[in-house]
Amino acid sequence: MQIAFEKVPVIPKEFKAEVSGLSLCGTLEKISRDIVKLKARLTGVIKADCDRCGKHFILPQDQELELRLSDRLIQTQDDLDIIEFLDGIIDIEYIIQSEIESQKALYNYCEDCNDKEDYEIEF
Ligand SMILES: [Zn+2]
Repeated sequence: MQIAFEKVPVIPKEFKAEVSGLSLCGTLEKISRDIVKLKARLTGVIKADCDRCGKHFILPQDQELELRLSDRLIQTQDDLDIIEFLDGIIDIEYIIQSEIESQKALYNYCEDCNDKEDYEIEF
C-alpha cells in the first residue's frame, strides 16, 4: 500500500495493510508540511527461526505504533524515530517489513532456548 506524501490530509485518514501475517491498521495525519504522523496497531504473528536450534517459532504481535514520516531528511533534537520516504511515497508495507526485521533482531531464540539462556546468566 503506497500513499503519496502530499496527499495525506490534516484530518486523520484511516488505512489498513497486511504483510506476511501481520496487519497494520490505523491513521495517517499530516501534522506539519514535512511530517506525517502514523498511529496504528500492529497485530498478527512474525515467523522467526531460532539462532540456536533452528526451530521455527512465532512471535505474537499486538502493539501500538506511533511513528513520524517525512519526505525529506529531518534533523531532530529529540529521540523521535522518523522514517524518511525521500521519493515522496509512503510505503506501508515497508514500515511493516522494517518492524518485522527489528523484532527479529530482538528475539533470536525460541522459547526453549530463551529459558536455557536465563540459567546461563551469572551475576
Ligand atoms: Zn531454540
